[in-house]
Amino acid sequence: MSHIQSHQEKIFLGIFLPLIIILYLVYKFPTLFVPLEQVRETFYFLGKSTSFWYATVYTGIVCFFSLKVLIQNINPYRISNTKPIALSTYQRAKFLSIFLSQLCLFYIIPFIIPAFQEGRSFFNDPYHAVNKDAYIYIYNGFTSIGGLIYIFFVVPILTWFVGKRYCSWFCACGNLAEAVGATKWGQQWVRNYTPRSQMAKKLEWLQFVILMFVVAYGFLLFLDLWQIFAATSLITAMYKVQIFAIDFMFGAIIGVGAYPLLGTRIWCRYGCPLAQLMKLFGKFSLSQARIQANSDCKGIGACSKVCPMGIDVKSFAFQNKQAREGIYGLSQTPCISCGSCISACPIQALTFKTLLSQRKSS
Ligand code: SF4
Ligand code: SF4
Ligand code: SF4
Repeated sequence: MSHIQSHQEKIFLGIFLPLIIILYLVYKFPTLFVPLEQVRETFYFLGKSTSFWYATVYTGIVCFFSLKVLIQNINPYRISNTKPIALSTYQRAKFLSIFLSQLCLFYIIPFIIPAFQEGRSFFNDPYHAVNKDAYIYIYNGFTSIGGLIYIFFVVPILTWFVGKRYCSWFCACGNLAEAVGATKWGQQWVRNYTPRSQMAKKLEWLQFVILMFVVAYGFLLFLDLWQIFAATSLITAMYKVQIFAIDFMFGAIIGVGAYPLLGTRIWCRYGCPLAQLMKLFGKFSLSQARIQANSDCKGIGACSKVCPMGIDVKSFAFQNKQAREGIYGLSQTPCISCGSCISACPIQALTFKTLLSQRKSS
């Protein structure tokens, strides 16, 4: 905790985690507090559901901070105490995508439009149980045609072209991580608390275990759906593990609540099964989305310090006291193409390579 800068930050840390636990408990498990028939009258403020208010606050935070970055137009990843420089074109496009995807795909379309389509009063949401599957949606690939096409065709093709840019440009979880990660405190959390040891790197296998769990769960649901094999008690047990251990404890409490303690991408690095699937797709398809270091690298290491995924970028760019023109991508790292390392390098020693950019330049 030696890096904690200010009194305000200490106060914030003292209330943040308990608040996150209470909010997620009320949001995901309201029947722990009141009987089912009283959930609506107890927790639906102004006639709007808890999902609506959760999405409103979440979208407000993401849109406020991403818009702030766009308006200020100052590169948030530069080495501190250096002259402010403008956002790169890539970062401008990334934060615009974060702002628009969060506002339209994750707020207006699911939470504003349906009330008008259903022709009811806007402030009169009917009761809906909260979907607790947010972090585990790979099993949709086994239970619906749309899910199957998305997970096993769209995602691999996208990964081949642009790597895991999905994680830093579109995903709702990634939107929060990127927007908060660009603030002053968020940058400190990423730089000072993201686990970067060898052990932390080895622990990334945990994400593979979660992927295997999710695939097994999805496959069982598939067999059950088509009445090939009934495993009701096993499915129920796995569902409980999923909603409590994976979705609530890991995805929500640690994934969001531990931002100030472990950086902004703990869930994305160790938990999210979709990220692991993308990494595997990228590895086996030899995805052309990579980052390349040129011969200008001086080994300053600013790139490694800002990486929210704990990747030692410098080790690809500089070895034995000299630049090595290294290249790295999904075959070696869980890179999400956020571009922080590129924006942090004061001498432009790093550049993106994607299939699209290669085609353009050839
Ligand atoms: S790792 Fe998973 S949760 Fe994180 S941004 Fe990517 S898809 Fe979203
Ligand atoms: S790529 Fe840039 S920031 Fe990274 S070690 Fe080289 S010079 Fe330093
Ligand atoms: S290596 Fe660079 S682009 Fe990849 S996740 Fe780390 S900071 Fe982002």
